[in-house]
Amino acid sequence: MRCCIVPGAPYSPQRPTSSRNDPLRGPQLRQKKTVLAKLECLDNGKPIDETEWDLDDCAGPHAASWARPSSLSPPLLASSTHNLTRPCCARPPAGCFDYYADLAERLDEAEVVDVGMEEFKARVVQEPIGVVALVTPWNYPLLMACWKVAPALAAGCCAVLKPSEVCSVTCLELGQIASEVKLPNGVFNVIPGLGAECGAALVGCPGVHKVSFTGSVSTGRAISMTCASNLVPCTMELGGKSALIVFEDADVDKAVEWCMFGVFWTCGQICSATSRLLVHESIAQRFYRKLRERAEAIRIGDPTEKGVRLGALVNRGQYAKVLGHIREALEDGGTLLTGGKRPPHMARGYFVEPTVFVNVRPGHRLWRTEVFGPVLACCTFRGEEEAVRLANDSEFGLAGAVCSEDVARCERVVRALECGITWINCSQPCFCQLPWGGVKRSGFGRDLGTYGLSGYLSPKQITTYVSKDTWDWFPEEQRRAKL
Ligand code: NAD
Repeated sequence: MRCCIVPGAPYSPQRPTSSRNDPLRGPQLRQKKTVLAKLECLDNGKPIDETEWDLDDCAGPHAASWARPSSLSPPLLASSTHNLTRPCCARPPAGCFDYYADLAERLDEAEVVDVGMEEFKARVVQEPIGVVALVTPWNYPLLMACWKVAPALAAGCCAVLKPSEVCSVTCLELGQIASEVKLPNGVFNVIPGLGAECGAALVGCPGVHKVSFTGSVSTGRAISMTCASNLVPCTMELGGKSALIVFEDADVDKAVEWCMFGVFWTCGQICSATSRLLVHESIAQRFYRKLRERAEAIRIGDPTEKGVRLGALVNRGQYAKVLGHIREALEDGGTLLTGGKRPPHMARGYFVEPTVFVNVRPGHRLWRTEVFGPVLACCTFRGEEEAVRLANDSEFGLAGAVCSEDVARCERVVRALECGITWINCSQPCFCQLPWGGVKRSGFGRDLGTYGLSGYLSPKQITTYVSKDTWDWFPEEQRRAKL
């Protein structure tokens, strides 16, 4: 397949910010949130309450809904810091498009730089990097796309989005909205298709100036190699196997709730899942008792029903993969605390119970491999140094979390964790204002925050010689002497 970058598309380094993603910040995207959330739920299998959150993060909450989070059940309200659950904040939290549209308003201001020589005046202006290829996964189909599309358009780039073939519906809808809001033709393009065909053709296309990828390590490696051979910059948001460390002084009830949120939310199909639990040996038995009781009470069911907290895995392949990990751990003598099978009341569909293995050996595959399902691997530790060493003993470095009442200890631990995202006394909260990305095999570069925007910009220096004198490096006397 040949990839088509529309010739003559209105990409121009000089395009003013007024034409950037303002059209998408308006009410059009917000008006379709309910429909998009339903489509995402049906396409992906995650609970409707979660896809509604995702849409808030894309488009911002409805003005009325952010202050009145009545659609969520009380236990989740009490514990989560997600946008919708912050009724006390002074203004509605921004969606991704609004956030980047606001940032873009400052992009036309040149940065004046004092270079220390009065003969020169210098400025730095930010120009769009060009045509960007955005390749995204299926676990947050629209949200992962918006994390890239919004800053790319805000920067003034032309974007070509290749959503996952597993869940493309809402990204295609975003393309439709872009045309309804009269984004100029060619500025935003959606090309659905298989990774090895459509995705590979796109990232290798000579007209692409930058690739931003979110997905698995193996695909990231293949795309990085293409980018290296074309000398095209790329951003890689890859997998993870993040740790949650719970110290003996932690509030156990709160820590158990965050532990469950960290690995069962989105059915565990989340790159930043804290799917490894390190719990201090002195509280381990108490922690496990509560965890089991709470995990067995999670409402599993039809993802379109309000209040359901665990939906179905995305497809048959993912279901087989997750059950394969569980089977292997059992065959290796793993100790199952709870779960491990299809929920008895869900005869059909790709449902897996919230699953917890305890006393997992840190060398075991379950401890080291990204399962991408509702499966938690637990082990105990005796001291802070051991906990940090075990947490860092991973090829991944996306996220890490610590629960403790000791503020100084929390600070020491998050600074020692080898990863790009850290949480203290929580797990998973995500805000578009903060950089998102990892180290080691979890990738490089960042989505979100100002870092997410700068990845789509190319700084240009403009240096002006303002002195009335000649520069005089080749002095006039030398010329005369030669005559
Ligand atoms: P994947 O790598 O299979 O696919 C991701 C995208 O790449 C899809 O659009 C796919 O079609 C495309 N693709 C596949 N092969 C390609 C190729 N050769 N060339 C170009 N494109 C190609 O990943 P997935 O299964 O969709 O997503 C799950 C993975 O994504 C997990 O490992 C998860 O941790 C990771 N993820 C990471 C983050 C993060 O922010 N770090 C966020 C979400 C998901």
